[in-house]
Amino acid sequence: MNKKMTEQELLACFDDAVKFGHIFVTYQPKINHCTGRMIGAEALMRWTHPAYGMQYPSDFIPVLEKNDLIYRADLAVFESVCKFQRSVLDSGEKPVPVSVNMSRYDIYRRDYAQEIEKLRIKYDVPVKYIHVEITETSAIGGMELITSVLKKLHEYGYVVEMDDFCSGYSSLNILKDLSVDVIKLDMRFLSGSIGGRGGTILNAVVQMAKWLGTPVIAEGVETLEQADYMKSIGCKYIQGYLYSKPVGEDEFREKLKQLDYEPLVPPIDLVTEMDAGRFWDPKSMETLVFNNFVGGAVIFSYQNGKAEILRVNKKYVKEIGMNMLEQDIIDGDPWESMDSKNRRIYEDTLKRAISSNEEESCETWRLICSKTCGEDRICIRSYIRLIGKTETQYLFYAMVQNITAEKKRWDELYESERTFRFASEQANVYAWEYDISTKKMRPCFRCMRDLNLPPLVENYPEPAIEVGIFPPDYADMYREWMRKLDTGEVDTLEGIIPLTVGRVPFHVRYTLERDENGKPLKAYGSATLVVDHISENSQNGQETE
Ligand code: C2E
Ligand code: CA
Ligand code: CA
Repeated sequence: MNKKMTEQELLACFDDAVKFGHIFVTYQPKINHCTGRMIGAEALMRWTHPAYGMQYPSDFIPVLEKNDLIYRADLAVFESVCKFQRSVLDSGEKPVPVSVNMSRYDIYRRDYAQEIEKLRIKYDVPVKYIHVEITETSAIGGMELITSVLKKLHEYGYVVEMDDFCSGYSSLNILKDLSVDVIKLDMRFLSGSIGGRGGTILNAVVQMAKWLGTPVIAEGVETLEQADYMKSIGCKYIQGYLYSKPVGEDEFREKLKQLDYEPLVPPIDLVTEMDAGRFWDPKSMETLVFNNFVGGAVIFSYQNGKAEILRVNKKYVKEIGMNMLEQDIIDGDPWESMDSKNRRIYEDTLKRAISSNEEESCETWRLICSKTCGEDRICIRSYIRLIGKTETQYLFYAMVQNITAEKKRWDELYESERTFRFASEQANVYAWEYDISTKKMRPCFRCMRDLNLPPLVENYPEPAIEVGIFPPDYADMYREWMRKLDTGEVDTLEGIIPLTVGRVPFHVRYTLERDENGKPLKAYGSATLVVDHISENSQNGQETE
Protein backbone atom coordinates (compact mmCIF):
# COMPACT_ATOMS: atom_id res chain seq x y z
CA MET A 1 0.00 0.00 0.00
CA ASN A 2 1.65 3.28 -1.10
CA LYS A 3 0.83 6.50 0.66
CA LYS A 4 2.30 9.81 -0.33
CA MET A 5 4.26 11.17 2.62
CA THR A 6 3.89 14.78 3.71
CA GLU A 7 6.85 17.12 3.84
CA GLN A 8 7.06 16.74 7.64
CA GLU A 9 7.00 12.95 7.41
CA LEU A 10 9.70 12.96 4.75
CA LEU A 11 11.93 15.22 6.80
CA ALA A 12 11.37 13.20 9.97
CA CYS A 13 12.25 9.93 8.23
CA PHE A 14 15.17 11.17 6.14
CA ASP A 15 18.04 10.18 8.46
CA ASP A 16 16.71 6.67 8.92
CA ALA A 17 16.01 6.36 5.22
CA VAL A 18 19.66 7.04 4.39
CA LYS A 19 20.90 4.89 7.25
CA PHE A 20 18.73 1.83 6.59
CA GLY A 21 18.81 1.97 2.83
CA HIS A 22 15.19 3.02 2.30
CA ILE A 23 16.71 5.42 -0.15
CA PHE A 24 18.27 3.28 -2.83
CA VAL A 25 19.15 3.23 -6.48
CA THR A 26 17.48 1.88 -9.61
CA TYR A 27 19.21 1.63 -12.95
CA GLN A 28 17.85 2.45 -16.36
CA PRO A 29 19.87 1.26 -19.38
CA LYS A 30 20.92 3.55 -22.21
CA ILE A 31 20.90 1.68 -25.51
CA ASN A 32 22.27 2.10 -29.01
CA HIS A 33 19.07 1.66 -31.00
CA CYS A 34 21.05 0.53 -34.07
CA THR A 35 22.81 -2.36 -32.38
CA GLY A 36 20.71 -3.08 -29.29
CA ARG A 37 23.85 -2.85 -27.19
CA MET A 38 24.07 -1.01 -23.88
CA ILE A 39 26.15 2.15 -23.79
CA GLY A 40 25.57 2.86 -20.10
CA ALA A 41 22.85 3.42 -17.51
CA GLU A 42 21.41 6.13 -15.32
CA ALA A 43 21.15 5.81 -11.55
CA LEU A 44 17.74 6.96 -10.32
CA MET A 45 16.92 7.51 -6.70
CA ARG A 46 14.07 5.64 -5.01
CA TRP A 47 12.61 5.84 -1.54
CA THR A 48 10.53 3.07 -0.07
CA HIS A 49 9.20 3.72 3.40
CA PRO A 50 8.58 0.52 5.44
CA ALA A 51 5.03 1.63 6.22
CA TYR A 52 4.08 4.20 3.58
CA GLY A 53 5.61 2.34 0.67
CA MET A 54 7.04 3.75 -2.54
CA GLN A 55 7.67 7.52 -2.73
CA TYR A 56 8.32 9.20 -6.07
CA PRO A 57 11.29 11.44 -6.88
CA SER A 58 8.98 14.12 -8.25
CA ASP A 59 7.44 14.31 -4.76
CA PHE A 60 10.40 13.90 -2.43
CA ILE A 61 13.29 15.47 -4.37
CA PRO A 62 11.84 19.00 -4.30
CA VAL A 63 11.35 18.59 -0.54
CA LEU A 64 14.95 17.48 -0.07
CA GLU A 65 16.17 20.33 -2.25
CA LYS A 66 14.15 22.88 -0.37
CA ASN A 67 15.47 21.64 2.96
CA ASP A 68 19.10 21.40 1.94
CA LEU A 69 19.12 17.61 2.22
CA ILE A 70 19.51 16.69 -1.44
CA TYR A 71 23.27 16.92 -1.10
CA ARG A 72 23.32 14.06 1.40
CA ALA A 73 20.88 12.03 -0.65
CA ASP A 74 22.93 12.51 -3.81
CA LEU A 75 26.12 11.46 -2.08
CA ALA A 76 24.29 8.38 -0.74
CA VAL A 77 23.27 7.53 -4.31
CA PHE A 78 26.80 8.13 -5.52
CA GLU A 79 28.17 5.81 -2.84
CA SER A 80 25.66 3.09 -3.75
CA VAL A 81 26.72 3.33 -7.37
CA CYS A 82 30.38 3.05 -6.37
CA LYS A 83 29.59 -0.03 -4.27
CA PHE A 84 27.65 -1.53 -7.12
CA GLN A 85 30.40 -0.96 -9.67
CA ARG A 86 32.93 -2.34 -7.22
CA SER A 87 30.99 -5.55 -6.76
CA VAL A 88 30.54 -5.96 -10.53
CA LEU A 89 34.27 -5.51 -11.01
CA ASP A 90 35.06 -7.88 -8.14
CA SER A 91 32.91 -10.59 -9.65
CA GLY A 92 34.86 -10.28 -12.90
CA GLU A 93 31.91 -9.00 -14.89
CA LYS A 94 32.05 -6.08 -17.25
CA PRO A 95 30.53 -2.85 -15.87
CA VAL A 96 29.00 -0.09 -18.02
CA PRO A 97 29.32 3.62 -17.22
CA VAL A 98 26.56 4.67 -14.82
CA SER A 99 25.51 8.31 -14.68
CA VAL A 100 24.60 9.91 -11.40
CA ASN A 101 22.31 12.93 -11.11
CA MET A 102 23.65 16.09 -9.57
CA SER A 103 21.02 18.47 -8.25
CA ARG A 104 21.47 22.13 -9.03
CA TYR A 105 21.59 22.65 -5.28
CA ASP A 106 24.71 20.47 -5.09
CA ILE A 107 26.45 23.14 -7.09
CA TYR A 108 26.07 25.64 -4.28
CA ARG A 109 28.13 23.26 -2.14
CA ARG A 110 31.52 23.97 -3.54
CA ASP A 111 32.93 20.67 -2.31
CA TYR A 112 30.54 18.39 -4.25
CA ALA A 113 33.13 17.36 -6.82
CA GLN A 114 35.76 16.69 -4.16
CA GLU A 115 33.31 14.64 -2.08
CA ILE A 116 32.27 12.33 -4.90
CA GLU A 117 35.90 11.97 -5.90
CA LYS A 118 36.74 10.79 -2.38
CA LEU A 119 34.01 8.16 -2.59
CA ARG A 120 35.14 6.96 -5.99
CA ILE A 121 38.68 6.55 -4.74
CA LYS A 122 37.46 4.82 -1.59
CA TYR A 123 35.79 2.13 -3.72
CA ASP A 124 38.54 2.21 -6.30
CA VAL A 125 36.17 2.54 -9.26
CA PRO A 126 37.85 3.67 -12.50
CA VAL A 127 36.51 7.11 -13.39
CA LYS A 128 35.29 5.93 -16.79
CA TYR A 129 32.56 3.90 -15.07
CA ILE A 130 30.87 6.92 -13.53
CA HIS A 131 29.34 9.85 -15.38
CA VAL A 132 27.76 12.92 -13.83
CA GLU A 133 24.49 14.42 -15.08
CA ILE A 134 24.02 18.11 -14.54
CA THR A 135 20.88 19.96 -15.57
CA GLU A 136 20.46 23.01 -17.65
CA THR A 137 18.74 24.75 -14.76
CA SER A 138 22.03 24.66 -12.82
CA ALA A 139 22.99 27.71 -14.82
CA ILE A 140 20.09 29.75 -13.50
CA GLY A 141 22.17 31.14 -10.66
CA GLY A 142 24.77 32.27 -13.20
CA MET A 143 27.43 30.52 -15.17
CA GLU A 144 30.30 30.97 -12.76
CA LEU A 145 29.47 28.20 -10.26
CA ILE A 146 28.51 25.63 -12.85
CA THR A 147 31.60 26.40 -14.88
CA SER A 148 33.90 25.84 -11.94
CA VAL A 149 32.19 22.54 -10.96
CA LEU A 150 32.40 21.36 -14.55
CA LYS A 151 36.07 22.23 -14.65
CA LYS A 152 36.71 20.25 -11.45
CA LEU A 153 34.76 17.24 -12.71
CA HIS A 154 36.71 17.30 -15.97
CA GLU A 155 39.98 17.57 -14.09
CA TYR A 156 39.10 14.38 -12.23
CA GLY A 157 38.21 12.78 -15.55
CA TYR A 158 34.41 12.44 -15.29
CA VAL A 159 32.30 12.43 -18.41
CA VAL A 160 29.63 15.07 -17.84
CA GLU A 161 26.18 14.76 -19.39
CA MET A 162 23.85 17.71 -19.85
CA ASP A 163 20.48 16.51 -18.59
CA ASP A 164 17.06 17.75 -19.72
CA PHE A 165 18.52 19.69 -22.57
CA CYS A 166 15.90 21.87 -24.21
CA SER A 167 13.76 22.09 -21.10
CA GLY A 168 13.74 25.80 -21.65
CA TYR A 169 16.56 27.69 -20.08
CA SER A 170 18.35 29.33 -23.02
CA SER A 171 19.76 26.02 -24.07
CA LEU A 172 21.79 27.16 -27.01
CA ASN A 173 23.83 29.61 -25.00
CA ILE A 174 24.54 27.04 -22.36
CA LEU A 175 25.81 24.54 -24.85
CA LYS A 176 28.07 27.06 -26.38
CA ASP A 177 29.56 28.14 -23.08
CA LEU A 178 29.74 24.83 -21.21
CA SER A 179 31.88 22.05 -22.53
CA VAL A 180 29.63 19.10 -21.67
CA ASP A 181 30.52 15.72 -23.13
CA VAL A 182 27.06 14.30 -23.79
CA ILE A 183 23.66 15.88 -24.34
CA LYS A 184 20.46 14.29 -23.05
CA LEU A 185 17.37 15.38 -24.89
CA ASP A 186 14.07 14.64 -23.23
CA MET A 187 11.35 13.69 -25.71
CA ARG A 188 8.71 14.67 -23.20
CA PHE A 189 9.65 18.33 -23.37
CA LEU A 190 8.69 18.22 -26.98
CA SER A 191 5.37 16.48 -26.73
CA GLY A 192 3.05 16.64 -29.68
CA SER A 193 3.70 15.34 -33.12
CA ILE A 194 7.32 14.58 -33.84
CA GLY A 195 6.73 15.62 -37.42
CA GLY A 196 5.82 19.14 -36.29
CA ARG A 197 7.57 21.86 -34.37
CA GLY A 198 8.88 19.41 -31.76
CA GLY A 199 10.55 17.42 -34.51
CA THR A 200 12.13 20.51 -35.96
CA ILE A 201 13.63 21.43 -32.60
CA LEU A 202 14.88 17.89 -31.98
CA ASN A 203 16.42 17.81 -35.40
CA ALA A 204 18.09 21.18 -35.01
CA VAL A 205 19.56 20.16 -31.67
CA VAL A 206 20.80 16.82 -32.95
CA GLN A 207 22.45 18.46 -35.94
CA MET A 208 23.97 21.17 -33.83
CA ALA A 209 25.30 18.66 -31.31
CA LYS A 210 26.86 16.69 -34.10
CA TRP A 211 28.57 19.78 -35.34
CA LEU A 212 29.80 20.46 -31.83
CA GLY A 213 31.06 16.90 -31.71
CA THR A 214 28.80 15.97 -28.80
CA PRO A 215 26.87 12.68 -28.70
CA VAL A 216 23.14 12.93 -27.95
CA ILE A 217 21.01 10.54 -25.92
CA ALA A 218 17.23 10.73 -26.35
CA GLU A 219 15.43 10.22 -23.05
CA GLY A 220 11.86 9.28 -22.27
CA VAL A 221 11.53 7.20 -25.43
CA GLU A 222 8.47 5.02 -25.05
CA THR A 223 7.62 3.86 -28.56
CA LEU A 224 9.47 2.27 -31.43
CA GLU A 225 8.19 5.06 -33.64
CA GLN A 226 9.93 7.65 -31.45
CA ALA A 227 13.16 5.65 -31.39
CA ASP A 228 13.12 5.16 -35.16
CA TYR A 229 12.45 8.83 -35.67
CA MET A 230 15.38 9.80 -33.45
CA LYS A 231 17.57 7.35 -35.29
CA SER A 232 16.47 8.84 -38.59
CA ILE A 233 17.63 12.29 -37.56
CA GLY A 234 20.96 10.96 -36.41
CA CYS A 235 20.38 10.21 -32.73
CA LYS A 236 20.77 6.50 -32.12
CA TYR A 237 21.23 6.53 -28.35
CA ILE A 238 18.02 5.88 -26.51
CA GLN A 239 16.92 5.74 -22.88
CA GLY A 240 13.32 5.03 -22.00
CA TYR A 241 10.54 2.57 -21.27
CA LEU A 242 10.82 1.22 -24.82
CA TYR A 243 13.92 -0.66 -23.76
CA SER A 244 13.55 -0.78 -19.99
CA LYS A 245 12.08 0.95 -16.96
CA PRO A 246 14.52 1.72 -14.16
CA VAL A 247 15.20 -1.64 -12.49
CA GLY A 248 16.67 -2.75 -9.18
CA GLU A 249 20.28 -3.79 -8.71
CA ASP A 250 19.74 -7.52 -9.20
CA GLU A 251 17.71 -7.14 -12.33
CA PHE A 252 20.23 -4.66 -13.73
CA ARG A 253 22.99 -7.14 -13.09
CA GLU A 254 21.13 -9.66 -15.18
CA LYS A 255 20.87 -7.10 -17.98
CA LEU A 256 24.60 -6.50 -17.77
CA LYS A 257 25.10 -10.16 -18.46
CA GLN A 258 22.56 -10.29 -21.32
CA LEU A 259 23.38 -7.10 -23.19
CA ASP A 260 26.71 -6.41 -24.80
CA TYR A 261 28.39 -3.15 -23.99
CA GLU A 262 29.61 -0.64 -26.52
CA PRO A 263 31.05 2.81 -25.88
CA LEU A 264 29.62 6.08 -27.13
CA VAL A 265 31.34 6.85 -30.44
CA PRO A 266 34.07 9.44 -30.36
CA PRO A 267 32.73 12.79 -31.42
CA ILE A 268 34.15 14.52 -34.43
CA ASP A 269 37.10 16.87 -33.95
CA LEU A 270 37.14 20.21 -35.62
CA VAL A 271 40.17 21.81 -37.11
CA THR A 272 41.50 24.22 -34.58
CA GLU A 273 40.74 27.51 -36.27
CA MET A 274 37.01 26.79 -36.26
CA ASP A 275 34.91 27.72 -33.29
CA ALA A 276 31.96 25.39 -33.42
CA GLY A 277 30.06 27.21 -30.71
CA ARG A 278 30.17 30.43 -32.64
CA PHE A 279 29.15 28.62 -35.75
CA TRP A 280 25.86 27.56 -34.22
CA ASP A 281 25.22 30.86 -32.53
CA PRO A 282 22.54 32.45 -34.70
CA LYS A 283 23.95 35.90 -34.02
CA SER A 284 27.63 35.15 -34.59
CA MET A 285 29.71 36.49 -37.41
CA GLU A 286 30.29 32.93 -38.61
CA THR A 287 26.57 32.34 -39.07
CA LEU A 288 26.18 35.70 -40.74
CA VAL A 289 28.91 34.83 -43.19
CA PHE A 290 27.62 31.31 -43.81
CA ASN A 291 24.12 32.53 -44.51
CA ASN A 292 24.78 35.70 -46.40
CA PHE A 293 28.21 36.12 -47.82
CA VAL A 294 29.02 32.81 -49.38
CA GLY A 295 27.22 31.06 -52.21
CA GLY A 296 25.45 27.73 -51.82
CA ALA A 297 27.28 25.90 -49.04
CA VAL A 298 26.87 22.60 -47.23
CA ILE A 299 28.59 20.96 -44.30
CA PHE A 300 28.58 17.20 -44.15
CA SER A 301 30.29 14.33 -42.41
CA TYR A 302 31.78 11.29 -44.08
CA GLN A 303 32.52 8.02 -42.36
CA ASN A 304 33.07 4.55 -43.80
CA GLY A 305 31.58 5.60 -47.09
CA LYS A 306 28.52 7.10 -45.44
CA ALA A 307 27.79 10.79 -45.94
CA GLU A 308 25.48 12.83 -43.77
CA ILE A 309 24.45 16.42 -44.32
CA LEU A 310 24.69 18.54 -41.17
CA ARG A 311 23.95 22.01 -42.35
CA VAL A 312 23.06 23.86 -45.53
CA ASN A 313 22.56 27.56 -46.04
CA LYS A 314 19.67 29.24 -47.83
CA LYS A 315 21.64 29.74 -51.00
CA TYR A 316 22.34 26.03 -51.13
CA VAL A 317 18.62 25.34 -51.07
CA LYS A 318 18.15 27.90 -53.82
CA GLU A 319 20.97 26.46 -55.87
CA ILE A 320 19.48 22.96 -55.77
CA GLY A 321 16.13 24.49 -56.70
CA MET A 322 13.03 22.29 -57.09
CA ASN A 323 11.32 23.97 -54.13
CA MET A 324 13.24 21.83 -51.68
CA LEU A 325 13.15 22.49 -47.96
CA GLU A 326 16.29 22.81 -45.88
CA GLN A 327 15.04 20.00 -43.67
CA ASP A 328 14.37 17.63 -46.57
CA ILE A 329 17.92 18.13 -47.75
CA ILE A 330 19.34 17.47 -44.31
CA ASP A 331 17.15 14.41 -43.79
CA GLY A 332 17.97 12.86 -47.15
CA ASP A 333 20.79 10.42 -47.85
CA PRO A 334 23.11 12.34 -50.17
CA TRP A 335 24.22 9.17 -51.94
CA GLU A 336 20.66 8.27 -52.86
CA SER A 337 20.64 11.02 -55.46
CA MET A 338 23.80 9.78 -57.22
CA ASP A 339 24.32 6.71 -59.37
CA SER A 340 27.43 4.64 -58.76
CA LYS A 341 29.51 6.46 -61.37
CA ASN A 342 28.75 9.92 -59.97
CA ARG A 343 29.18 8.71 -56.44
CA ARG A 344 32.62 7.40 -57.32
CA ILE A 345 33.55 10.76 -58.83
CA TYR A 346 32.39 12.50 -55.68
CA GLU A 347 34.09 10.12 -53.28
CA ASP A 348 37.33 10.34 -55.24
CA THR A 349 37.15 14.10 -54.82
CA LEU A 350 36.64 13.68 -51.07
CA LYS A 351 39.71 11.46 -50.95
CA ARG A 352 41.70 14.05 -52.86
CA ALA A 353 40.52 16.77 -50.46
CA ILE A 354 41.60 14.61 -47.51
CA SER A 355 45.07 13.98 -48.84
CA SER A 356 45.76 17.40 -50.33
CA ASN A 357 44.14 19.50 -47.61
CA GLU A 358 43.28 21.89 -50.44
CA GLU A 359 40.03 22.75 -52.13
CA GLU A 360 39.12 20.09 -54.70
CA SER A 361 36.30 20.23 -57.21
CA CYS A 362 34.11 17.92 -59.23
CA GLU A 363 30.90 17.86 -61.25
CA THR A 364 28.26 15.28 -60.48
CA TRP A 365 24.79 14.52 -61.77
CA ARG A 366 22.07 13.87 -59.25
CA LEU A 367 18.50 12.76 -59.33
CA ILE A 368 16.57 15.07 -57.04
CA CYS A 369 13.15 14.04 -55.77
CA SER A 370 11.25 17.04 -54.53
CA LYS A 371 7.92 16.88 -52.75
CA THR A 372 6.50 19.63 -54.90
CA CYS A 373 8.36 19.33 -58.20
CA GLY A 374 8.77 15.60 -58.61
CA GLU A 375 12.00 14.22 -60.02
CA ASP A 376 14.69 15.90 -62.05
CA ARG A 377 18.31 15.39 -62.91
CA ILE A 378 20.62 18.22 -62.00
CA CYS A 379 24.34 18.73 -62.31
CA ILE A 380 26.24 20.23 -59.39
CA ARG A 381 29.75 21.56 -59.40
CA SER A 382 31.22 21.26 -55.90
CA TYR A 383 34.30 22.86 -54.41
CA ILE A 384 35.16 20.73 -51.41
CA ARG A 385 37.42 21.33 -48.44
CA LEU A 386 38.17 19.21 -45.37
CA ILE A 387 37.44 21.08 -42.14
CA GLY A 388 37.60 18.46 -39.40
CA LYS A 389 38.48 14.85 -38.74
CA THR A 390 38.83 12.06 -36.24
CA GLU A 391 40.37 8.65 -36.77
CA THR A 392 37.27 7.46 -38.54
CA GLN A 393 35.19 10.46 -39.48
CA TYR A 394 35.71 13.47 -41.72
CA LEU A 395 33.92 16.78 -41.85
CA PHE A 396 33.70 18.69 -45.12
CA TYR A 397 32.62 22.10 -46.29
CA ALA A 398 31.48 22.35 -49.89
CA MET A 399 30.44 25.27 -52.04
CA VAL A 400 28.04 24.29 -54.80
CA GLN A 401 26.89 25.62 -58.16
CA ASN A 402 24.00 24.26 -60.13
CA ILE A 403 25.39 23.98 -63.65
CA THR A 404 22.54 21.94 -65.12
CA ALA A 405 21.49 24.51 -67.70
CA GLU A 406 25.05 25.01 -68.83
CA LYS A 407 25.62 21.27 -69.01
CA LYS A 408 22.40 20.56 -70.86
CA ARG A 409 23.15 23.18 -73.48
CA TRP A 410 26.57 21.72 -73.90
CA ASP A 411 25.28 18.17 -74.12
CA GLU A 412 22.69 19.06 -76.75
CA LEU A 413 25.32 20.73 -78.81
CA TYR A 414 27.67 17.89 -78.28
CA GLU A 415 25.06 15.45 -79.46
CA SER A 416 23.93 17.40 -82.51
CA GLU A 417 27.41 18.04 -83.73
CA ARG A 418 29.08 14.86 -82.79
CA THR A 419 29.52 13.65 -86.32
CA PHE A 420 30.46 17.05 -87.59
CA ARG A 421 33.00 17.49 -84.83
CA PHE A 422 34.35 14.01 -85.18
CA ALA A 423 34.89 14.48 -88.89
CA SER A 424 36.64 17.80 -88.47
CA GLU A 425 38.82 16.47 -85.71
CA GLN A 426 39.83 13.59 -87.96
CA ALA A 427 40.49 15.77 -90.98
CA ASN A 428 42.39 18.31 -88.99
CA VAL A 429 39.99 21.05 -89.99
CA TYR A 430 38.18 23.79 -88.13
CA ALA A 431 34.56 23.90 -89.19
CA TRP A 432 31.55 26.10 -88.50
CA GLU A 433 28.07 26.75 -89.64
CA TYR A 434 26.74 30.21 -90.41
CA ASP A 435 23.01 30.88 -90.46
CA ILE A 436 22.24 33.53 -93.07
CA SER A 437 18.95 34.87 -91.68
CA THR A 438 20.07 35.16 -88.04
CA LYS A 439 23.78 35.91 -88.57
CA LYS A 440 24.56 33.32 -85.91
CA MET A 441 27.63 31.16 -86.17
CA ARG A 442 27.99 27.74 -84.53
CA PRO A 443 31.62 26.71 -84.23
CA CYS A 444 32.88 23.15 -84.01
CA PHE A 445 34.37 21.74 -80.85
CA ARG A 446 37.92 22.46 -82.00
CA CYS A 447 37.08 26.12 -82.70
CA MET A 448 35.62 26.46 -79.22
CA ARG A 449 38.57 24.75 -77.65
CA ASP A 450 41.44 26.35 -79.60
CA LEU A 451 39.95 29.77 -80.31
CA ASN A 452 38.02 30.05 -77.09
CA LEU A 453 34.70 30.61 -78.86
CA PRO A 454 31.28 30.17 -77.19
CA PRO A 455 28.90 27.55 -78.60
CA LEU A 456 26.98 30.26 -80.43
CA VAL A 457 28.43 33.47 -81.83
CA GLU A 458 25.90 36.20 -82.59
CA ASN A 459 26.27 38.95 -85.18
CA TYR A 460 28.96 37.04 -87.01
CA PRO A 461 31.67 37.90 -88.05
CA GLU A 462 32.03 41.02 -85.88
CA PRO A 463 32.96 39.26 -82.58
CA ALA A 464 35.59 37.15 -84.39
CA ILE A 465 37.08 40.31 -85.89
CA GLU A 466 36.92 42.07 -82.56
CA VAL A 467 38.92 39.40 -80.72
CA GLY A 468 41.47 39.31 -83.51
CA ILE A 469 40.78 35.90 -85.04
CA PHE A 470 40.58 37.81 -88.31
CA PRO A 471 43.33 40.44 -88.24
CA PRO A 472 42.28 44.07 -88.91
CA ASP A 473 43.80 44.23 -92.38
CA TYR A 474 41.68 41.24 -93.45
CA ALA A 475 38.50 42.40 -91.70
CA ASP A 476 36.93 44.22 -94.63
CA MET A 477 37.73 41.47 -97.04
CA TYR A 478 36.08 38.97 -94.75
CA ARG A 479 33.01 41.19 -94.26
CA GLU A 480 32.73 41.31 -98.03
CA TRP A 481 32.79 37.49 -98.14
CA MET A 482 29.96 37.33 -95.65
CA ARG A 483 27.96 39.90 -97.63
CA LYS A 484 28.34 37.77 -100.78
CA LEU A 485 27.10 34.73 -98.93
CA ASP A 486 24.20 36.68 -97.38
CA THR A 487 23.00 37.85 -100.75
CA GLY A 488 23.68 34.55 -102.48
CA GLU A 489 26.02 36.11 -105.03
CA VAL A 490 28.35 33.11 -104.78
CA ASP A 491 28.06 29.40 -104.01
CA THR A 492 31.61 28.87 -102.85
CA LEU A 493 34.45 31.03 -101.59
CA GLU A 494 38.01 30.28 -100.73
CA GLY A 495 41.31 31.93 -99.92
CA ILE A 496 44.32 31.99 -97.65
CA ILE A 497 43.75 34.15 -94.56
CA PRO A 498 46.27 34.68 -91.75
CA LEU A 499 44.32 33.96 -88.60
CA THR A 500 44.71 35.08 -84.99
CA VAL A 501 47.35 37.45 -83.66
CA GLY A 502 49.91 34.85 -84.66
CA ARG A 503 48.84 35.44 -88.31
CA VAL A 504 48.90 31.72 -88.99
CA PRO A 505 47.89 31.16 -92.63
CA PHE A 506 44.75 29.06 -93.09
CA HIS A 507 42.98 27.87 -96.14
CA VAL A 508 39.44 29.11 -95.54
CA ARG A 509 36.53 27.75 -97.59
CA TYR A 510 32.78 28.38 -97.72
CA THR A 511 29.96 26.39 -99.32
CA LEU A 512 26.50 27.91 -99.49
CA GLU A 513 23.31 25.96 -98.97
CA ARG A 514 20.09 27.27 -100.52
CA ASP A 515 16.43 26.40 -100.01
CA GLU A 516 14.20 25.01 -102.76
CA ASN A 517 13.63 28.53 -104.10
CA GLY A 518 17.33 29.24 -104.28
CA LYS A 519 17.31 31.55 -101.28
CA PRO A 520 20.55 31.33 -99.19
CA LEU A 521 20.04 29.34 -95.99
CA LYS A 522 23.35 28.45 -94.46
CA ALA A 523 27.01 28.65 -95.23
CA TYR A 524 29.42 25.95 -94.11
CA GLY A 525 32.88 27.24 -93.34
CA SER A 526 36.11 25.38 -92.82
CA ALA A 527 39.72 26.27 -92.23
CA THR A 528 42.74 24.04 -92.68
CA LEU A 529 46.24 24.94 -91.74
CA VAL A 530 48.50 25.72 -94.64
CA VAL A 531 50.94 22.86 -94.12
CA ASP A 532 53.91 24.53 -95.84
CA HIS A 533 53.81 27.16 -93.16
CA ILE A 534 54.52 24.67 -90.39
CA SER A 535 57.48 23.04 -92.08
CA GLU A 536 58.84 26.45 -93.05
CA ASN A 537 58.65 27.66 -89.47
CA SER A 538 60.13 24.47 -88.08
CA GLN A 539 63.02 24.75 -90.42
CA ASN A 540 63.58 28.33 -89.40
CA GLY A 541 63.60 27.19 -85.83
CA GLN A 542 60.70 29.47 -84.93
CA GLU A 543 58.62 26.76 -83.28
CA THR A 544 59.25 26.66 -79.59
CA GLU A 545 58.97 22.94 -79.19
P1 C2E B 1 15.63 12.69 -14.87
O1 C2E B 1 17.02 12.87 -14.39
O2 C2E B 1 15.28 13.39 -16.13
O3 C2E B 1 15.38 11.16 -14.97
C1 C2E B 1 14.61 10.55 -15.95
C2 C2E B 1 13.24 10.28 -15.45
O4 C2E B 1 12.45 9.83 -16.52
C3 C2E B 1 13.20 9.19 -14.41
O5 C2E B 1 12.13 9.50 -13.57
C4 C2E B 1 12.85 7.98 -15.25
O6 C2E B 1 12.25 6.95 -14.52
C5 C2E B 1 11.87 8.60 -16.19
N1 C2E B 1 11.72 7.85 -17.42
C6 C2E B 1 12.65 7.13 -18.08
N2 C2E B 1 12.18 6.62 -19.22
C7 C2E B 1 10.90 7.04 -19.31
C8 C2E B 1 9.87 6.85 -20.29
O7 C2E B 1 10.04 6.20 -21.30
N3 C2E B 1 8.68 7.45 -20.05
C9 C2E B 1 8.45 8.20 -18.93
N4 C2E B 1 7.25 8.75 -18.79
N5 C2E B 1 9.39 8.39 -17.99
C10 C2E B 1 10.61 7.81 -18.18
P2 C2E B 1 12.29 9.39 -12.02
O8 C2E B 1 13.14 8.24 -11.66
O9 C2E B 1 10.92 9.48 -11.46
O10 C2E B 1 13.09 10.69 -11.68
C11 C2E B 1 12.53 11.94 -11.88
C12 C2E B 1 13.54 13.01 -11.66
O11 C2E B 1 14.01 13.04 -10.33
C13 C2E B 1 14.81 12.79 -12.49
O12 C2E B 1 14.61 13.20 -13.78
C14 C2E B 1 15.79 13.65 -11.74
O13 C2E B 1 15.62 15.00 -12.05
C15 C2E B 1 15.35 13.43 -10.32
N6 C2E B 1 16.20 12.39 -9.75
C16 C2E B 1 16.11 11.05 -9.81
N7 C2E B 1 17.14 10.46 -9.15
C17 C2E B 1 17.89 11.48 -8.65
C18 C2E B 1 19.10 11.54 -7.87
O14 C2E B 1 19.72 10.53 -7.50
N8 C2E B 1 19.55 12.78 -7.54
C19 C2E B 1 18.91 13.92 -7.92
N9 C2E B 1 19.43 15.09 -7.56
N10 C2E B 1 17.81 13.90 -8.68
C20 C2E B 1 17.31 12.69 -9.04
CA1 CA C 1 19.00 12.57 -15.21
CA1 CA D 1 16.46 13.93 -17.90
